[in-house]
Amino acid sequence: MNGRMMHDLQGNLSFLPYGKKGQFINSISRAGLNGILLTAAEGSGVNFFFNHKCVDADIDGTSLIFEEQGTAAVKKVSADAVIGADGSWSAVRAALQHTDRFTYSQTFIDHGYKEFHIPPGSNIEKNAFTFGHAKVL
Ligand SMILES: Cc1cc2nc3c(=O)[nH]c(=O)nc-3n(C[C@H](O)[C@H](O)[C@H](O)COP(=O)(O)OP(=O)(O)OC[C@H]3O[C@@H](n4cnc5c(N)ncnc54)[C@H](O)[C@@H]3O)c2cc1C
Repeated sequence: MNGRMMHDLQGNLSFLPYGKKGQFINSISRAGLNGILLTAAEGSGVNFFFNHKCVDADIDGTSLIFEEQGTAAVKKVSADAVIGADGSWSAVRAALQHTDRFTYSQTFIDHGYKEFHIPPGSNIEKNAFTFGHAKVL
């Protein structure tokens, strides 16, 4: 990707390069990368439990409590160590907030985003990230 292509409300295009002429960043499919990583982890013996939602954590007991989605099943899983990587609404972090002197703050940006799927062959610059402004109706 050589830069960003901005599409304004009037349909005008403006190009913002990422670097000097000839310079570029490499862009790959996030879903494709996730697939490669999952396959590699599986090959190394990692077990995956999809559709299991972590709902609580027992910090002292290094246990996590999961709900299996679509069923009423609740499971408690213990381990020597737990790494919580469950994102912005982390259940693990919520449980940590009940421990002594744990502090946390969260702020939100004042704009939103919407993803579109634009098939190849459209009138879109293929070596640029596409950005657009949109009116919220
Ligand atoms: C539109 C958009 C564009 C972005 N662009 C960039 C960028 O260009 N560069 C950049 O550096 N960052 C970018 N970011 C930010 C980046 O995606 C995040 O900072 C990063 O993904 C956070 O990683 P994470 O592992 O903490 O959480 P996540 O990537 O959100 O991963 C959390 C995972 O936990 C799972 N999960 C959530 N809750 C539970 C639960 N209760 N039980 C079990 N699993 C659960 C989720 O399904 C998810 O798989 C962007 C974010 C957005 C939304």
